[in-house]
Amino acid sequence: MELLKDKIRKEGKALNHEVLKVDSFLNHQIDPVLMKAIGEEFASRFHKEGVTKILTLESSGIAPSVMAGLAMGVPVVFARKQKSLTLKSDMIRARVYSFTKQESNDISVASKYLQPEDKVFIIDDFLANGEAAHGLLSICKQANVKVAGIGIVIEKMFQSGGKKLREAGIRVESLAQIEKLEEGKVTFKEEEYC
Ligand code: 5GP
Repeated sequence: MELLKDKIRKEGKALNHEVLKVDSFLNHQIDPVLMKAIGEEFASRFHKEGVTKILTLESSGIAPSVMAGLAMGVPVVFARKQKSLTLKSDMIRARVYSFTKQESNDISVASKYLQPEDKVFIIDDFLANGEAAHGLLSICKQANVKVAGIGIVIEKMFQSGGKKLREAGIRVESLAQIEKLEEGKVTFKEEEYC
């Protein structure tokens, strides 16, 4: 998706060979115009799948997911990382190791928001080693719902998550695929930019 790649070229900062900082439009400040375009792109790629619900992870998955939900006309559920005082019973949980925080956390979703008749489209901001995606897939499995596929805003192809998910037969669609990160330089799949 060219609009997204242009934004990464202009504002993304490779902190090292592994981590891309995109705080100015996705992870802290949010660019609503770009998020709307991202939501519409996800909707166009998955419109034939009969999706009834989008599942994401707080907090950075929420903005692109809400825009996709708006474009597809379906509700968005976000898995919580913190324990909620108001959501106590009937929670489905999975343990997720965070690549950026280097710690494991439980994520949870109230079972009433995922019903067996649902077909779920999973969305997240980044795909690195696939831990977050596996946690969300585990929640879908426990809830006994079908999974239409996974939509990722930025996939880092040099980490193993995408390959493992695709080898497992899961449809993974990424809007920007990064092949290599060097300080001050982002190389997209099949292209190179300084
Ligand atoms: P994974 O679970 O696939 O290893 O990593 C994906 C999760 O870690 C995403 O939900 C995202 O929040 C975070 N993440 C992984 N790599 C990056 C990165 O390069 N930059 C940022 N900002 N977040 C990342």
